[in-house]
Amino acid sequence: MRIKKISHIAVAGDNPSETRELYENILGLNFSGSEPVEREGVTTHFFDVGESSIELLEPLSDDSAVGKFLKKRGAGLHHIALEVENLDGYVEKLKQAGITLLSDEPQLGAHNMRIIFIHPKSAGGVLIELCERVEPPYSV
Ligand code: ZN
Repeated sequence: MRIKKISHIAVAGDNPSETRELYENILGLNFSGSEPVEREGVTTHFFDVGESSIELLEPLSDDSAVGKFLKKRGAGLHHIALEVENLDGYVEKLKQAGITLLSDEPQLGAHNMRIIFIHPKSAGGVLIELCERVEPPYSV
């Protein structure tokens, strides 16, 4: 059980095309694709940054989680994602420590990752995502 790296840093954008212009055309980051995550009501746009990436979150509607976040807090840092080995082991350990999680079990997120979120109130005010790559042929 270990943390492998920062998987990505997610930014909630209120003007994704403008932010994309900055990331891609001005800073020169490689755009590695967009993926809708219906359950979360969001489209994710990924930009490579070395071993990690920046995930630009674009809400599919105002009443999605990210839509509400934008309304309440405005555009900005949304969460930090840590890629782990043995996500289930971490979930167990966090529950035992009384840390608040946003769901009871890991869910399937973008990029074929199993993910779970640690509530900001348990994490110094920052939403933290733990994620683990789902290796084929494993399916959820
Ligand atoms: Zn994420």
